[in-house]
Amino acid sequence: MFEKILIANRGEIALRIHRACKEMGIATVAVHSTADAEAMHVRLADESVCIGPPAASESYLNIPAIVSAATLTNAGAIHPGYGFLSENANFAHIVEEHGFTFIGPKSEHIAKMGDKVAAKAAMRAANVPVVPGSDDAVSSAAEAAVIAEEIGYPVLIKAAAGGGGRGMKVVTRGDEIAAAISMAQNEARTNFGDATVYLEKYLARPRHIEVQILADGQGNVVHLFERDCSLQRNHQKVLEEAPAPSLDTATRQRIGEICCAAAQRIGYRSAGTFEFLFEDGEFYFIEMNTRIQVEHPVTEMICGVDIIREMIRIAAGESLSFNQDDITLNGHAIECRINAESPDTFAPSPGRITEFHTPGGLGVRVDSALYAGYTVPPYYDSLVAKLIVHAGNREDCLLRLRRALDEMVVSGIETTIPLHQRVIDDPSFQAGDYDIHWLEKLVAHN
Ligand code: ADP
Repeated sequence: MFEKILIANRGEIALRIHRACKEMGIATVAVHSTADAEAMHVRLADESVCIGPPAASESYLNIPAIVSAATLTNAGAIHPGYGFLSENANFAHIVEEHGFTFIGPKSEHIAKMGDKVAAKAAMRAANVPVVPGSDDAVSSAAEAAVIAEEIGYPVLIKAAAGGGGRGMKVVTRGDEIAAAISMAQNEARTNFGDATVYLEKYLARPRHIEVQILADGQGNVVHLFERDCSLQRNHQKVLEEAPAPSLDTATRQRIGEICCAAAQRIGYRSAGTFEFLFEDGEFYFIEMNTRIQVEHPVTEMICGVDIIREMIRIAAGESLSFNQDDITLNGHAIECRINAESPDTFAPSPGRITEFHTPGGLGVRVDSALYAGYTVPPYYDSLVAKLIVHAGNREDCLLRLRRALDEMVVSGIETTIPLHQRVIDDPSFQAGDYDIHWLEKLVAHN
């Protein structure tokens, strides 16, 4: 096992990884920008190294600085968390080239799944159902028009290198496709450095359901059931729950088995997520995330598995300590992403935290790097806390979440806590009756 791990991230996920390390007797190294010198992940780590100025491009994305920090502190492995360098195949490769262990998948898998066209092809070959669309990249407007007629409007143009909910364009009519393709190619080139785009059938009212898997790279793969992440704004997840309210046991088992078989087939290692749209009883693969995800705690709560700990064990060459039969689905969990944003306009709200009180009690977990007196910097993602609640069933989980949200105090900045309160008071959310557009409609009716 590693003696020391460098955590190449910040905020709540850096803290989450730190906690797993401490419980395993592993020392931690924090890296930070000058803006984060006072951050909790730096305060708690055994050692810390400043890797650059506030801009992420010069600090949390600065590969030479991070590798130097690992060399300087003699760390054995690097955990990238999510965002930043977590899905950068080149980073994973460089880390290993320098003699450190990358706590995540093989760089070849990160590269393949980072190219959404290649990822869909690999999944089709592994018998995973995918969204109907162009099987390949689309190069000309004429080609796109033919394919769009075949699959039927509306269609979605997606960037092969897209991510974070960006690089998608809905086209509803044939006379709009030519202009939309060239605009999408230009935007993809500017935003992702790769002009490749492809077409997908635009599903009208699907749910976003994703399956968490763990693979040890030694032939053992398990799934940890699924999460429903349909509550989104601008294609960004806002609230997640596990298990998905709309699935029955047989469907749950079927999709879990499909994902395990696919992970086996491609020789995957570490934690990974298969993302699907689910409509009229059918699953359609959209992408695979080759990293730990923000919403992983809901899965941990219903399975009792520490996913970060397993990632570390797998990276150290250990095999999975359990098999599928050891994993049972227990109760229901919901996570609210609490952002430093206006709950009405969603404008960022950085600033100094004057009061911070977290809810407690049975079944309540708060993953956050906030503390009273801390200043949320304006440079990074606005996620500042995750409130995760677990109970024996969905109904009790909602009651517990209601009281936990009411207990939580974050003063000095605006947060999205009031938005979550509105969501869980809504009868259709309470009935589990929602799709990926539901939240945007709720917000629009403000
Ligand atoms: P990203 O990598 O940017 O997160 P995804 O492919 O995972 O992109 O899609 C993000 C979200 O966009 C999905 O959760 C869903 O809400 C929406 N979306 C993606 N593909 C489709 C589709 N074919 N039809 C309808 N909505 C889609």
